[in-house]
Amino acid sequence: MYAQVVVDVLSRQVDRLFTYQVPQGLSVRPGERVYVPFGKRELPGLVVHLSEDAGGVDAEKLRPLLGPMDEYPLLTDDLLELAGWMRAHCGCTLAQAVRAMLPAQLRSGSARPLSRLAVERIVPMEQALDACKRAARQRALLEALGDEGPKRLDALEEQVHGAAALARALEKKGICKVFPMQVRRVPFSDKVVDESHLPTADQAQAIVRLNEALDNKGGSFLLCGVTGSGKTEVYMHAIRRCLNQGRGAIVLVPEIALTPQMAAWFRARFGDTAAILHSALSKGEQFDEWRRIRLGEARVVVGARSAVFAPVESLGLIVVDEEHEQSYRSENAPQYDAREAAVERARLVGGVAVLGSATPMMPSYEKALRGEYTLLEMPHRVQGRPMAEVEIVDMRRELLDGNPSIFSRRLRQALKETLDRGEQAVLFINRRGYAGFIKCRSCGCTPKCPHCDVSLTYHLTDRSLRCHYCGHTEPAPQVCPECGSRFIKPMGIGTQKVEQVFSQEFPGVPCVRLDADTTARKDELVRLLSDFRRKKARVMIGTQMVAKGHDFPGVTLVGVLMADLSLNIPDYRSEERTFQLLTQVEGRAGRGENPGRVVVQSYEPDHYAIRLAANQDYRAFFENELKRRRRTLYPPFTLPMRVLATSADEAEARAAAEGLAEAVKDWFGETKERRRQLVQVRAMEAPLSRIKDVYRHQVYIKLYTSAGAEALEQIQALCREYETPKAPLRLEIDPPSFL
Ligand code: ADP
Ligand code: ZN
Ligand code: ZN
Repeated sequence: MYAQVVVDVLSRQVDRLFTYQVPQGLSVRPGERVYVPFGKRELPGLVVHLSEDAGGVDAEKLRPLLGPMDEYPLLTDDLLELAGWMRAHCGCTLAQAVRAMLPAQLRSGSARPLSRLAVERIVPMEQALDACKRAARQRALLEALGDEGPKRLDALEEQVHGAAALARALEKKGICKVFPMQVRRVPFSDKVVDESHLPTADQAQAIVRLNEALDNKGGSFLLCGVTGSGKTEVYMHAIRRCLNQGRGAIVLVPEIALTPQMAAWFRARFGDTAAILHSALSKGEQFDEWRRIRLGEARVVVGARSAVFAPVESLGLIVVDEEHEQSYRSENAPQYDAREAAVERARLVGGVAVLGSATPMMPSYEKALRGEYTLLEMPHRVQGRPMAEVEIVDMRRELLDGNPSIFSRRLRQALKETLDRGEQAVLFINRRGYAGFIKCRSCGCTPKCPHCDVSLTYHLTDRSLRCHYCGHTEPAPQVCPECGSRFIKPMGIGTQKVEQVFSQEFPGVPCVRLDADTTARKDELVRLLSDFRRKKARVMIGTQMVAKGHDFPGVTLVGVLMADLSLNIPDYRSEERTFQLLTQVEGRAGRGENPGRVVVQSYEPDHYAIRLAANQDYRAFFENELKRRRRTLYPPFTLPMRVLATSADEAEARAAAEGLAEAVKDWFGETKERRRQLVQVRAMEAPLSRIKDVYRHQVYIKLYTSAGAEALEQIQALCREYETPKAPLRLEIDPPSFL
């Protein structure tokens, strides 16, 4: 027998499978970790295939593998296939893909299942008691131990003082054995009342379609349901169906720490069948959960991005909740997109993938329109609740009318009315892009790159404006180029400032502040959310966090401060993200009995992203934005990527980047067909040109989507060619930011 093994070395130069002999008498299975000789070293590897022949290699020359590392295969067959898909689609090596699929603790060897010493009787009771006739305390231990197999020593100690010494004595006599027994750490013990609802008409329709797919060949679905339409309930039904078929399910949530609610619901509904892969768990707890999944004890997995690799056997369903969230993209290598991985994995197992959101990502919705995904729509809120009434306030007007406060007159009035009625409010401060750009407070304009249609970033050191995509630089203007106003300057306010102003204007009204500072500790976040839920606080002030899927039925007013701030991030996705953020945060209002109201404050009240978010009109936004993307050549029409060259030696980094850019240009210039695939390629300093004395240069490459796998493969090959030991190259496909 021969085994094809991914060896755990990350270098791109050895990114292929290595074949080893399987020694006689040794049995290994695909997915199992093994030690292999590699050069002069012994390294861990993972078996991908087994075969009878050596695949054309001279069998004599093959070395034998050294033996398995674990008791069971760590990866399921579909995960092994998925690793190959990642290599082809994420610009990573096989070894990187495999690494991403295993718990980090497993790789470092630091995660042992938690064990405690236990004692077990190994001879019949009578014989045992007989052997301890004159040792009353040993007999006491035997009696406490009873007849039901091994017991933990720490538990016995509570009944019999000195249990450990007594057990050792009994072990010496050959009556008992003392050994480390695995115990499971239980991460969540909170009890939650489970509410089950009679599905609404929208929900029922979605459930029928998903069940149909689960019963047949599977499929990929985009569940596009407005905020408060009850998407979770739909997922729950599909999961039930899946479990009844004897299959498992994975539910991905954006940031599980922010949604303790979700984890609790799953525990309540599925009990021990549910495993929660939560980054706030201790390493040991994470590993235990992973192991419960691998051994089939847990069949429903809830977790963030990397849970898409949970080793669920007979997987039938993967749900990606709030699929528009950026956290589904991994920023570190391998740079996979959990949404795409979910769809691919579901396809591999013949199961169902459901991507759910009120504001799907542009590419997802585009795929749904093209029929690559089946579109399921839920346009109504549960129980006929109306969408919130949204009103846009023009902050330029406020300034003209002599109100320089961060609260417009409308918002102040609405807050007062809401508090007078005894209801709750959320104040959302859009802080993304804080002070990184300049804006005219009189006309609302922001300077953009003449070549890239993204905002220019303000650099304080030399008061310049720069483009993070193409490197264009110009001096920051003293007066607004549009209207001549001198109120053109860096923008932004913080949550603390808002809290302070709020307390001045509404003295004595209890409020909670939710931002990176106050929620650095997990229990603090849980406490703040619970204070608000129990109405101990009347107002919640927060950043992006408050926009996440929270369900606070008492909230009837949402105020949005600096709605347009995120429009100016130098990223082609800022319009999309602004629309998503506003729609989501508006969705927090009026989820209970009383209807909701939203006041959106903006300096660009006529911008389509702001206007259409106020109308909660996803479809109109999508069409508008798609037109812009077609015109400016961004996804889904093109595929932007960058290759980052880093080196302690600036000249090396520059040379690697410039060499690669030339080579890419040459290759695409070779034939007419290839020339039609390339939009642009350019080498330049990275926006953060030096980090901790490491110099960074980048090559920005933009291809038309029609360029296929061959082009990508070629770019990867050129990366291998142009990187040097002192200047490694990293390929990032459609990176979430270009910093
Ligand atoms: P979404 O994720 O679509 O914004 P959720 O799944 O959070 O919505 O559901 C919103 C609220 O509606 C939750 O409090 C949920 O318990 C409730 N809900 C869901 N389905 C129903 C239903 N069929 N009838 C009544 N209430 C429901
Ligand atoms: Zn102006
Ligand atoms: Zn530019």
